[in-house]
Amino acid sequence: MFICSSLGGWSRQQGPLKMAEEESQFEEFEQIDFLRDRHVRFFQRTLQVLPERYASLETTRLTIIFFALSGLDVLDALDVVDKNIMIEWIYSLQVLPTEDQANLSRCGFRGSSHIGIPYSTKGPGVLHPYDSGHVAMTYTGLCSLLILGDDLSRVNKQACLAGLRALQLEDGSFYAVPEGSENDIRFIYCAASICYMLDDWSGMDIQKAIEYIRGSLSYDSGFGQGAGRESHGGWTYCAIASLCLMGRLEEALSQRELDRIRRWCIMRQQSGFHGRPNKPVDTCYSFWVGATLELLDVFQYTNFDKNRSFILSTQDRLVGGFAKWPDSHPDPLHAYLGLCGLSLIGEPSLRKVHPALNITQRAFQHLQHVQQTWRDSTGSCSRQH
Ligand SMILES: [Zn+2]
Repeated sequence: MFICSSLGGWSRQQGPLKMAEEESQFEEFEQIDFLRDRHVRFFQRTLQVLPERYASLETTRLTIIFFALSGLDVLDALDVVDKNIMIEWIYSLQVLPTEDQANLSRCGFRGSSHIGIPYSTKGPGVLHPYDSGHVAMTYTGLCSLLILGDDLSRVNKQACLAGLRALQLEDGSFYAVPEGSENDIRFIYCAASICYMLDDWSGMDIQKAIEYIRGSLSYDSGFGQGAGRESHGGWTYCAIASLCLMGRLEEALSQRELDRIRRWCIMRQQSGFHGRPNKPVDTCYSFWVGATLELLDVFQYTNFDKNRSFILSTQDRLVGGFAKWPDSHPDPLHAYLGLCGLSLIGEPSLRKVHPALNITQRAFQHLQHVQQTWRDSTGSCSRQH
């Protein structure tokens, strides 16, 4: 709805020559002007206080924190964060098993302290009828811990995996929470990321998840939220990234299917990318579709200059961050995914992003190091027995 006003301010009440001059200056201006320091401050503010209109997002605060932390990581500015305090706060959101383990199927990470469980970073957990993990919070919680340099040693892996298994439905999809919610390919992606990070796939029935993903492949070769649903850039990312994390991409999809998916994704570029045919371009799809194309090895066939110009046109020049459209309010999700979109096309001052896990390559290397220490210790344990 804000789209039509996008460039209006630049051409009001002026002759055609003047307009052309200004538009070309505008384009040149956008080519060079990436306001790094304003984005650092935007994410710093996101960690501290948010406008009132975000109040309804309180239950998913951990995900907003993830956008800010990972955004600062992409900007190579994590030194502005007090890492220890943040790590402790994230651990306080872990739903830990009670002494009798009665809540094992409800474990994972909750989004914030809204439910009133007393602050604690240690077990045993407290039984509360409405307390449970949320699969997206567990995913962003683990990512955030890795970004902050934590070694995940205080994550109760077995409880997280038990909580995850309880969320999978017979058709292979996942609920977000044990009480039931929407169930679709987004939560398969979160579950696959959690299993990948914990280096343990006992949290899901992979075969069933693959069948659900395959069933979501639409007639036009994008993926929908589930079978028979409209193709969409976000769901397509979740499908392809999940299969990549499982290491099953080429087994689950034929070469012919993969080529058609590549084509569907490439066709989503206008200037930036949109999520569906005939929809306006939107900053976040520079990551959702861009990362999918990167995972499918064809991102280089897109137009980086147009993509970059569009993303920068949504940059808020005053308060930092990116909006979904030009002349709109920036928000943490689009600010983070806009940066990730720029990182994918090699913006010089930004860290590289891991396209399947949606964290920096630096954080991913830290994960690999942590996993190696787990394997080394399991190896030495089994040698001792
Ligand atoms: Zn968007």
